[in-house]
Amino acid sequence: MVKRLIFAAGAGGVVGAACGLAEAIVAFLPQPAEETWLAELPAFAVAMAIYAPIGMVVALVWAALLGGIDARSFSRRVPAVTALAMLWLFGGVAVNRSFLPSATHPLSIAFTLLWTVALLWAIHRVWARPGASPAGEDVRLGRVAFALLATALAGVLLVLPSMRADLRGPAGGTQTAGGEAKRPNVLLIVLDTVRADHLSVYGYARATTPGLERLAREGVTFEQALAPAPWTLPSHATLFTGLYPVQHHAGRFHPRLDEHLTTLPELLHAQGYQTVAFSNNTWVSRATNFHQGFDDFEDFRGIWRVWRSASRLLAVQVYRIFRPTQLHGDRSGGAGVTNRAIRHWFNAKHDPGRPFFLFINYLDAHFPYHAPDPYWRKFVEPAHQALATHLLDEKAQDEADYTPPPINWEAQKWGALTDLYDGELFYLDAMLTELFDDLRQRGLYDNTLVVVTSDHGEHLGEHDLFLHRFSVYEPTLRIPLLMRLPGRLPAGLRVSDWVGLPDVFPTVLKLVSVETPADVQAVLPGRSLVGSPVAVPPGRMLLGDYEVPDNLLPRYRQKTTVTDESYFRRGLRSLHYGNWKFIRGTDGRNELYDLDRDPSEKNDLAQQAPEQAQAMEARLQGLLESVPKMRDAEAAGELDAETKAQLRALGYIE
Ligand SMILES: [Zn+2]
Repeated sequence: MVKRLIFAAGAGGVVGAACGLAEAIVAFLPQPAEETWLAELPAFAVAMAIYAPIGMVVALVWAALLGGIDARSFSRRVPAVTALAMLWLFGGVAVNRSFLPSATHPLSIAFTLLWTVALLWAIHRVWARPGASPAGEDVRLGRVAFALLATALAGVLLVLPSMRADLRGPAGGTQTAGGEAKRPNVLLIVLDTVRADHLSVYGYARATTPGLERLAREGVTFEQALAPAPWTLPSHATLFTGLYPVQHHAGRFHPRLDEHLTTLPELLHAQGYQTVAFSNNTWVSRATNFHQGFDDFEDFRGIWRVWRSASRLLAVQVYRIFRPTQLHGDRSGGAGVTNRAIRHWFNAKHDPGRPFFLFINYLDAHFPYHAPDPYWRKFVEPAHQALATHLLDEKAQDEADYTPPPINWEAQKWGALTDLYDGELFYLDAMLTELFDDLRQRGLYDNTLVVVTSDHGEHLGEHDLFLHRFSVYEPTLRIPLLMRLPGRLPAGLRVSDWVGLPDVFPTVLKLVSVETPADVQAVLPGRSLVGSPVAVPPGRMLLGDYEVPDNLLPRYRQKTTVTDESYFRRGLRSLHYGNWKFIRGTDGRNELYDLDRDPSEKNDLAQQAPEQAQAMEARLQGLLESVPKMRDAEAAGELDAETKAQLRALGYIE
C-alpha cells in the first residue's frame, strides 16, 4: 500500500511538472523581443514547482479510488488518468478564461459539460485497454518515485540553512541596550504613499495607527511635514541627499540618483556604519543608482521575478479567484516578507560591533490596495462590503483602466477605495510594531534613531483626483514625520511648524554626531530640526515640484475619450509660506489658498487677492533662484527592460 502511494505521488509529481512546463512554454515564451530566453529560465522552475504538488494530489486521489486493482494496471493507469485529469482541469480553465464569458454563462456551462464528458470517455478508453506492461515495471517506477522524493528532500535540505536563520528569531544578548556602539543606529522608514491625515496619530477618526501613536508618545511628531514632490523618485532622492529636486535632478526625465551626489548612507558608511536597504519600490533600487553607500541593498527583484512568472500561471489565477487576498501584490513581497528579510539580515549579517543604518521602503499603501486578510476588512463599512470585496480582485484595481481627471465616481466607490486604503495603513502599522518589537528583543531599539516618514501622499477623490499625479495639493504633499531617540529627543513632543523632507538629512547627521562635509553643507536647503529640544526656524518657505507628466500621457490617451488634456497636462510648483500656499502651473494658471481657513484648498484666491498671489509668486521665484546650483544631471543610459516592466506594473510608464 505504501509502495503504491509513493509511486502515485512520484508519478503525479512528474505529470504535474510536465503540465507546468507545457504551460510555461505557452505562457512565457511569446515575450517582447527585448526579453531573452535566459531571463525566463527561472519561470520554468516556478511553473514546475507549482504544478508538481497539484499533480501529486490528483494522483493520490486516483490511487485511493483505484486501491483494489492489480499492481500492473495500477502502475499504468494512475499516471494516465492523472494526466487526463490535469488536462481537464487546466485546459477547461484556459478555454473558459480565454474564449468564453463568465463561468456561469450558459455557453461556459455547456462547454464544461462537454469537456467533462470528453474526459470521462477518455478515462474509459484508458481503462478498457488491456494492460500489457512488462513485468518489473512496478519496481522500476517505484525507483523513479524514490529518486524524485530523494531529490525533493535534497532540495529542502539545501534551502533549510537559509530558512533557519529566519526561524531562529532574535539572537538576544549580542548587544545590550545602550550597546557598545558609540553612535546610535539609524532606522529610516518610508511608508510609501501614506498621507498624514489618514493616520490616527495625526488625528484621523479611524484607529489606523495605534503603533505609531505609541512611537509619538515616546518621541517627536512633526504635525506639518511636506514632501518636495508628489511621487517616489524625486522625494527619495531628496531624503537621501537633503537637496531639492531642482538640485538633484532625479525625476521624470532623469530617472537616476547621480553618482556625484553625496548621500546619507555614504556619509554614515564612511563613519563606520553598516548600511543596508530593503526597498520594495523600483524607483528606489539598484537600477536607479540608489545603492550608493550601502553594504547590502535588497530590492526584492528576485521575489518580483518569481511573482511575475507565477501570476501568469492558470493554477495561480484560479487560486486567486477563491482567495483573492492571500497572494499579495505583483510588485513586492509586502511588509510581512520585508520584515522577514530584515530579521534574516540581523541574524545572518548584522555586525554588533558597528552601528547600523537601515533604510526600508514599504510599498503596501501604494495602489492597488489589497492588504492581507484580515487587515483589509478592518475599516470596510457594511454599505461598501460588496464593492470592496470586488475591488480586492487585482483586475478590478487596474490602474491602466482609470481615466484622467476629472474623475467623477460615485461616493460608494470612493468610500470602498478609502476603506481599503485605510486597511493598508492598519496593516503597515502592525508590521511596524512587529519590527520595533523585534529590535527591542535584540536590545537595539533604545539606541536607535527611528525616523518614520513617507515620500508623498495620495488623492482619494479630492479635486476629482485619484492616486498621486497631476497634483501638488495637500493630500499628495502632506506626509507623516516622526522621530524617536531616547535621551536625545523629548518624548511626546508635537511640533506644529512647517518642516520638509530636506530637513531629515541634516537632522539625522546631527543626532548621530556625524559632521556634514563643508561642501555638502553649503548646498543644503534644509536644516537640522534638533535644538533645545527641537528648533524649527520661523518663516519657513518650502517648495513642491511636479514635472510635466508627458510620459504618462500615451497610457491615458489609450484609455480615454478626453480630448482636452490641458486640465492635467502641466508642470506644477508650489510654495508653502505661513498660512499661504501658492501653486504655479506651467500653463500660466496659478492658484492661491489660505490653508488656515481653507485646509482642503477649495477656494482659489488667485483672482480675489492678486497682490498676495504676486507676492507669493515673487517669493517662489526668489527661493528658486536662491537655492544653490548644482552640477547638471549626469548622462545616464536607458533603464533596462526588466526595470521598465516593473515600473509598468506600478503604473508609472506606458
Ligand atoms: Zn512613492
